[in-house]
Amino acid sequence: MKILSVNAGSSSLKFQMFEMPEETRLISGVFERIGMENSFYTIKINGEKIKKEKEIKNHKEAFTTLLEELQENNVVKDLNEIKGVGHRVVQGGEYYNKSVVIDNEVKEKIKELSILAPLHNPAALIGIEASESVIPGAVNVAVFDTSFHQTMPIENYLYALPMKWAKEYKIRKYGAHGTSHKYVSARMNEILGRTNTKLITCHIGNGASISAVKDGICINTSMGLTPNAGLMMGTRCGDIDATIVTYLINNYNMTAEEIENVMNKESGLLGISGVSSDSRDIEDGISKGNSSCILAQKMYVKRIVEYIAKYYVELGGCDAIVFTAGLGENSISTRREILDALTVLGVKIDTEANEVRGEEKLITLPSSKIPAYIIPTDEELMISRDTYNLI
Ligand code: AMP
Repeated sequence: MKILSVNAGSSSLKFQMFEMPEETRLISGVFERIGMENSFYTIKINGEKIKKEKEIKNHKEAFTTLLEELQENNVVKDLNEIKGVGHRVVQGGEYYNKSVVIDNEVKEKIKELSILAPLHNPAALIGIEASESVIPGAVNVAVFDTSFHQTMPIENYLYALPMKWAKEYKIRKYGAHGTSHKYVSARMNEILGRTNTKLITCHIGNGASISAVKDGICINTSMGLTPNAGLMMGTRCGDIDATIVTYLINNYNMTAEEIENVMNKESGLLGISGVSSDSRDIEDGISKGNSSCILAQKMYVKRIVEYIAKYYVELGGCDAIVFTAGLGENSISTRREILDALTVLGVKIDTEANEVRGEEKLITLPSSKIPAYIIPTDEELMISRDTYNLI
């Protein structure tokens, strides 16, 4: 059975197609600059990457082009072979603790939740409606970034604000990157050969979050009402004193929009280093002795270590630490600095094993009290699995 996994952004559409249940990746790609000048798409098939320029006015046209490519490349002969389309949806609020088949009610809820994900939920809806009109025979499934975190106990997801705000305005911690945390924690349990485990999963990419996962269930996570909570990230500030916002409004004439923009797009590694949000540039700066890059990296690592320590206590120990996403999979120095800072917990890094990028691997010594693993994430496969299981 062929399943398409889709991640629609406001001007982009990423896709992968799998043969299920074998989990064979047939084709992947991305449409960019949809509705803009110079739109183009890239496709990866049989190890080859093809880039094509084409005017793509909207997501429906992107889907139509995608289907033409699937047929031209003999991935599908007949569109009826596509039995399911899984859509990544950022915010499922308190409504969804698992993936669901999309009907009108689900679409209404995704729309209603746009207040919590104004950039992402409307884009997902556009993708869903384009898919419905172009592949009418397929079942559409919504896979929410938040649903894995819906198992958090109330004391962990509530903020210490008036209860009225949680009840009326839905202000609480929802978390994000749930599909990734779910995928790597399930894979970690497979490697450990049991499910009664205490895991700390570190999804450290441009956006970054950490989860505490007990017996396969999320009990805490670092992102909050929005993704700008918890860790310092590429351009996001993460946890700060909330009163900084009103301080800036009252004393420096800044608007809420300006502050939100700076806190999301000009803070984090970029804000402190003044150089880049990309850890490769930070590493480069550090090698040249750039003191702002050195400081940015120090702050970045410190916050990750603080969260690991917090979740170690909350879980009452830890059976494995998992690193995933851009930095987690590829930044040798960031992993090394994190694990070195955890020596007090009996963590012993295997520096030689750690010299890898993007590979599933144990990177601590046999004598380490807590093993640490790199597990490359695969959100698209997870979306595809959920879609297949629902069909
Ligand atoms: P993601 O959001 O998961 O795609 O992660 C993207 C981020 O991963 C980039 O912005 C970089 O900071 C980081 N990254 C990717 N490749 C490397 C690498 N080879 N070394 C260090 N950091 C990397």
